[in-house]
Parts: sequence; C-alpha cells; structure tokens
Amino acid sequence: MLKNYLLTPGPTPIPPRVLETMARPIIHHRTPEFQKVIQEVEEDLKYVYQTKNEVLIFAASGTGAMEGSVINLLSPGDKALVVRGGKFGERFGEICKAYGVEFIPLDVVCGKAVDPKKRDEALKIDKKIKAVYVTLCETSTGVSTDVEAIAKIVKNYEAALVVDAISGLAAIPIKTDEWGVDVVVSGSQKGLMIPPGLAFVSVSAKAWGLIEKSTLPKYYFDFKAYRKAIAKTDTPFTPAVNLMIGLREALKIIREEGLEVIFERHKKMASAVRSSVKAMGLELFAPEAYSDGVTAVKVPQGIDGEKLVKTMRDKYGVGIAGGQDEMKGKMFRIATMGYITPSDLIVCIATLETVLSEMGYKFQLGSGVKALEETLK
Ligand SMILES: *Cc1c(COP(=O)(O)O)cnc(C)c1O
Repeated sequence: MLKNYLLTPGPTPIPPRVLETMARPIIHHRTPEFQKVIQEVEEDLKYVYQTKNEVLIFAASGTGAMEGSVINLLSPGDKALVVRGGKFGERFGEICKAYGVEFIPLDVVCGKAVDPKKRDEALKIDKKIKAVYVTLCETSTGVSTDVEAIAKIVKNYEAALVVDAISGLAAIPIKTDEWGVDVVVSGSQKGLMIPPGLAFVSVSAKAWGLIEKSTLPKYYFDFKAYRKAIAKTDTPFTPAVNLMIGLREALKIIREEGLEVIFERHKKMASAVRSSVKAMGLELFAPEAYSDGVTAVKVPQGIDGEKLVKTMRDKYGVGIAGGQDEMKGKMFRIATMGYITPSDLIVCIATLETVLSEMGYKFQLGSGVKALEETLK
C-alpha cells in the first residue's frame, strides 16, 4: 500500500475544499449562477496578479496563453527578444519560430538569471522589437528572474514586456502594475492549486495598443474576443466550468491567507529545502538565483538520478521531478508551491535520505531532516 505525496512543480496538490467544489454537478455556463463565478474569479485573479488590468481566462494549459502572447502582440516583420535560460524560455522562441516571427535570443547559462547590467546580457531593444519575453520562475532550472529590473528597462520602449509567471504566480512576488509588466501569463496547476486546464493573461493598455495592430493569424486565442466577452461577464467559448468553480474556491483560500503571508511561507519552505539538501552534502543547481517555488538539486556523482526519482515515487509514493532534456538524470526538483506544506517537506526529505542511502550515497542519515526542521521552526 502506498500513500501518495506530490511535490512536483506542476501539477501540485489540490486542497480538499477545492476538490469538493469541483465534484458538484455541472451547471450551464450562460447562467447568472456561472456569471457570479466569472465575476468572483476575475476579481480575485486581479488581486493575485496585483493588477487593475483585465485578466483573460482560457481553457488551455499554460502554453496556450504563452502562444496567445506571441500571436496577439506581433505582426509579420516584427521581432521579439527572448530571454532563454531553460526549457520554458526556449518555448517562447519555439512559438515565435512556429509563427515565422524573427526572435533575438538572449541566452543565459542554465542555473543563472539574466543580469541586464552585464554588457553581454543587456537588453538591446531596437525599433523592430515589439515584445520582450522573460520567465519569472524558470521551472526547469529553479531560477528566479529579476523582472522588476527588466521592466524598468523595457518601459522606455514601444516593446511590451511579457512575463511567463506560470509557476511563479501566487508563489513568488510579481507586482504587475507597480513594476509595469504588460502581459503576465499563468496557468492553473502550479501556485493556484487547481488541476491543469486553465491559462491566464493580464494585458496592459500598452499591450492592447500592440494587439490592435497585430496581424498574425489567431482564432481560439484571440485576446480581443476574450476582452469583449469578459466585459459582459461572459466567455467567447465554452469555459472549463468545473475548473472555474474550483478556481473560485482556491482563490478564496489565497485571499484568506493573504499574498504577503503566502510569499513568506514559500520563502521559508524553499529556504528549508535548500539548507536540508546542503546539509546532506548535495549541491544546488542555482545556488544564487534560486526560486522559492522550486528547488533544483544536482544529483551526486555515481547516483542514477532517474532511478532516484522513480524509486521515491514507486516505492515510497513521494513524487518529485527529475531534470528535463539534457539535465535528465542529473538533476531533481522539489516544489514548494501552492498546497505543499512543511509536513509534505518532512516526508519528502526523509524519503530522499532513505532512497539516497539505499543507493549507496554516503552522508549522515538524518542530516537533511535536521536542517529542514531547524529552518522550518
Ligand atoms: C509549467 C510551466 C509551463 C508550461 O505550462 P503547461 O501548463 O504545461 O502548458 C510554462 N512555463 C513555466 C515557467 C512553467 O512552469
């Protein structure tokens, strides 16, 4: 018999209160009852996004909104600047490529964050560049980007700043309006504590200006159609009704706790994970630019990283994530976002110790849990 724990950076666990609301019989979406759901969700999303801009909601995974933020802002002949430091930064480039948009990559070493003050990482924004794409929390490397600093630079140009906050929203700070971020992309299955299937974007006045001029082909992800609908508390297509109902409850939980308290909690838990793996003699993949939403750890010499993740899951029921692409087998990632609590972390670190020890890694058994407890208390 196994009891399952999920500490992956999406999907993340779902609070029972949210699960219960989604299990209720479905309702029709063109009704006053569902309009109330839209209204409440919209209002609370603005709170989480820290914005007065409209937040558009799509039935899609997060990538749908990423694609939307390319095809709605740009036109053939426009250029994009894409900061790439991992799998998700690369994805913006792939989307540009799919639509024939020329993009200038700004490549950052994996495990490090872009530093716009460095000469070779400066944002070179010419007239043709209409959008700058950045990842708030690069989930594949556990890196957090200084979006505030980047926003200060992009503000001076016609280009819009688009931030992928899919795994950052409701976990680490993103002050959409205060920092001046034009488009913030997010998804449902990370910090927002509901299943995959919803994607979001907030859109600033500056971004709407570009959208008005954009001529790239679009249909399902046409932002204008969503804006028109939301103005009437409606959706252009059939919404993911039960996910929306779950989201309403999840957002209530977020409001009850309060964003600032949530950010502090994530900070403390991620800091506890970092000290625990270090106490075990392990190395962080992003020792400086770490994110408080997910911690990436290097697999020690001589240990099979894929087997480590698999054994934790199949023998002990503890789900963590491995490395992706070229980091496969060389990294594991422990999430601290959404409905992941200190007790989950205690189970996770104790299991990590057990499995590493079974696999022959030499360290002081209990050192990780001890450091975790000391940081959490
Ligand atoms: C999970 C994630 C995505 C992809 O979202 P999907 O829901 O899988 O489409 C994109 N960017 C970041 C930073 C993510 O963490």
